[in-house]
Amino acid sequence: MNLKQYIREIPDFPSKGIVFKDITPLLNSPIAMEEAANALMELVGNQKIDKVVGMESRGFFFASLLALKLKAGFVPVRKPAKLPADKISITYGLEYGTDTLEIHKDAIQAGDRVLVHDDVLATGGTAKATCELVERLGGEVVQCNFLMVLELLNGEEKLNGYEIRTLMRYR
Ligand code: 5GP
Repeated sequence: MNLKQYIREIPDFPSKGIVFKDITPLLNSPIAMEEAANALMELVGNQKIDKVVGMESRGFFFASLLALKLKAGFVPVRKPAKLPADKISITYGLEYGTDTLEIHKDAIQAGDRVLVHDDVLATGGTAKATCELVERLGGEVVQCNFLMVLELLNGEEKLNGYEIRTLMRYR
């Protein structure tokens, strides 16, 4: 199955000049969802995973499915002021301004083997910040996987040193 058939391109969203990759057609198709979840599982192979970390909000869909399949815990990484319990934060630079992500302190134990999942790797800022949060809590990032990588934004370079896997690539 060509999963790209289920990715809709929306010009000028969320701002002019950006062609947004909309994954909702994929989420809307049980056949494509199952195919994508199984293909992501193949990327992980037989590596042992204790926790799957998904980033708010589109990372949550498949990260939780993968956690279930891997018999691992699911951990949400969220935007500021959403998580209720003790947490740590990281602020990272964007082209204009900064963004902050948070994780619960007790979500990862030292030595946990962690799979990081998001829908899209663009500049890599979100994924890099997430890996740092995991590592500050003593977790080991085993793999970062994505539905798609937007190659022209060089996110893979930013994640240099991590195992990066993806189902789809766009230039
Ligand atoms: P980065 O931090 O790598 O620049 O951006 C990745 C984050 O932005 C991901 O959490 C992803 O959900 C979101 N993102 C950036 N571009 C797109 C896009 O074209 N489509 C979707 N679905 N998400 C995007």
